[in-house]
Amino acid sequence: MPNVEGIAVGGMAVGLLAERVGSTPFFAYDRAAIDARVVSLRSALPGDVHLSYAVKANPMPAVVQHLARRLDALDVASGAEMRVALDTGIAPGSVSFAGPGKSVAELTQAVAAGVLVEIESPLEADRLVEAADRLGIRPRVAVRVNPDFEVKGSGMRMGGGAQQFGVDAETVPLLLKTLHDRDVEVAGFHVFSGSQNLHASILAEAQERTVDLVLRLSDDLPSAMTYLNIGGGFGIPYYTQDRPLDLDLVGSRLEELLATRVRPALPSAQVVIELGRYLVGEAGVYVTRVVDRKISRGTTFLVVDGGMHHQLAASGNFGQVIRRNYPISVVAAHEGGEEVVQVVGCLCTPLDLLGDKVSLPRAEVGDLVVVHQAGAYGLTASPTAFLSHPAPLEVLV
Ligand SMILES: *Cc1c(COP(=O)(O)O)cnc(C)c1O
Repeated sequence: MPNVEGIAVGGMAVGLLAERVGSTPFFAYDRAAIDARVVSLRSALPGDVHLSYAVKANPMPAVVQHLARRLDALDVASGAEMRVALDTGIAPGSVSFAGPGKSVAELTQAVAAGVLVEIESPLEADRLVEAADRLGIRPRVAVRVNPDFEVKGSGMRMGGGAQQFGVDAETVPLLLKTLHDRDVEVAGFHVFSGSQNLHASILAEAQERTVDLVLRLSDDLPSAMTYLNIGGGFGIPYYTQDRPLDLDLVGSRLEELLATRVRPALPSAQVVIELGRYLVGEAGVYVTRVVDRKISRGTTFLVVDGGMHHQLAASGNFGQVIRRNYPISVVAAHEGGEEVVQVVGCLCTPLDLLGDKVSLPRAEVGDLVVVHQAGAYGLTASPTAFLSHPAPLEVLV
């Protein structure tokens, strides 16, 4: 008989957890798995590197609170994420605010709170200075730089070439010059070149090129650099052919880089790495229940009570070029071995596909189907209003 106790979150079997939560579908995040990630990062990366959590990966307040106690910083991308971050009790100066199109209201919030603002354009710099002048507060800022290089192998490229993110590297000296006469503390730079990279050597090379760039730019800083956010982009395996990132290699190459180039040249710069999915992605599952089992012209369909409106990425519609299956499993206690099925959601669109030709233990109506790697860019990165189903619950176990 298949082992129904096989899938657990926070040590609790998913079947029992579903009873505890009270309704499906739901997201469950595992504290112990998040903690294990933090421990492995701390042991692989140089001890003086600060670790920051990119809140947009999973802004559930309990998750953010949990990570705020274990990491050094939080990175937010909206006024609402900033409120969640500040509610954790973290020092406001350890919160950084990145992202294009920050509103005057959000910039004002950040200055009033004492949050570090990462400037993404000259106009944004002007707005920030105006907000700060109005409040009579000297803001601490960093310049987010759009690098003059590109990083291959990222699932999502967010630097190099023409970008809505950051200030083009070649125009940073001019921006610094205009900030020079204003009442602003320019602490340093932030360079984020891409996301979801599984190649340690490419990440290490990106960090080296980032350091080359910031060393060039540092000559134009009015005072010693105190903040150097070198981005992140650490990927997690979603598909069967993906290999996990070699974190030890990333760590040893970074230690060498810091020892040879960064600590000697920029002794007061706090190096920061900011990570989203690497911290929480593998710690989460999306749990659904089979509501129908039907056979159409020889193909078996398991229709579950969730779908792409909650977990868009697993349907392959969150920026993926080729649709592949996220890891998926069944919590079932039936005899009958494995079968190849289509796992589909309950939305009225063929896009709502969670598992394409997946081999799973035989599942009946009422059984649970679990989608893994759902801890990041799940609920809040999905079109929850599409088809007007109720929102799923989230629990941190
Ligand atoms: C989204 C984002 C991240 C997090 O990316 P992950 O792939 O989840 O690690 C980090 N930094 C910035 C600036 C971001 O916009």
